[in-house]
Amino acid sequence: MNKVAVITGALKGLGLETAKGLLNKKYQVVISGRDQVRGLEVEADLAKFGSVKFIQLDVADVASIEAFTKDVLADFGSIDVLVNNAGIFPDREKAASLEDLSEDLHKAFRTNSVGPMLMIEKVLPGMLAKGSGRIVNVSSGMGQLSHMGGGSPAYRVSKVALNGVTKFYYATLRNTDVLINSVCPGWVKTDMGGSQAPRSLEKGVSGIIWAATLPKGGPNGGFFRDGEPLEF
Ligand code: NAP
Repeated sequence: MNKVAVITGALKGLGLETAKGLLNKKYQVVISGRDQVRGLEVEADLAKFGSVKFIQLDVADVASIEAFTKDVLADFGSIDVLVNNAGIFPDREKAASLEDLSEDLHKAFRTNSVGPMLMIEKVLPGMLAKGSGRIVNVSSGMGQLSHMGGGSPAYRVSKVALNGVTKFYYATLRNTDVLINSVCPGWVKTDMGGSQAPRSLEKGVSGIIWAATLPKGGPNGGFFRDGEPLEF
């Protein structure tokens, strides 16, 4: 039976391109997102590439994560790969007030850090029982603690926290074949990255797909771009 990969925020951008890449590699792919209508359209579009199923998921909603993972496990039995791709960039512009900053921070943490952690909590027991798994946290160079820049505090700090999630789980997974890594896709032309971004979607997802399909003994607990290590 082909391996099962779950991708969050897979109805456009890097998530959708990751779905295509994993379908090409013969994974059974569960695409997820908030919009049921769009989800079924994307599922129909991708069907020509292989086995794909859409299941609705809002990673900022605990009940949705519970329902989603229950449905995936009922349909597929197990999950081999989790790509925590869904993300938001709420503070491209400077927050006007403390209240705005607070709202941006809460939204960003809920989607970019807490959601991925809750997803991991739901899939990890199955991976450990099976003895293998691959978890990719799609992070950003903007969350690189060692090279922190100014501006966009909610996005930056929520991605630092996501990298913290990677390290936190690695502490208990280091001697297992459940490999968890953070990946920066680079600055990519998507709705989030904008039209000025220098990277194509194909280039952006190559490092995500690399981390999702690592062989046994591959790197664990790291931060990568294009398969090359980055400092946290
Ligand atoms: P995008 O085109 O804006 O796509 C983001 C996806 O996340 C959308 O499908 C969006 O769904 C989904 N999403 C947002 N909130 C969600 C939620 N609560 N539940 C489920 N899905 C949710 O952005 P992208 O560029 O492909 O970004 C993908 C990932 O790469 C993000 O984590 C981002 O931070 C990271 N990244 C991107 C770049 C870049 O240059 N593009 C650089 C570094 C890192 P809706 O359509 O429903 O909003």
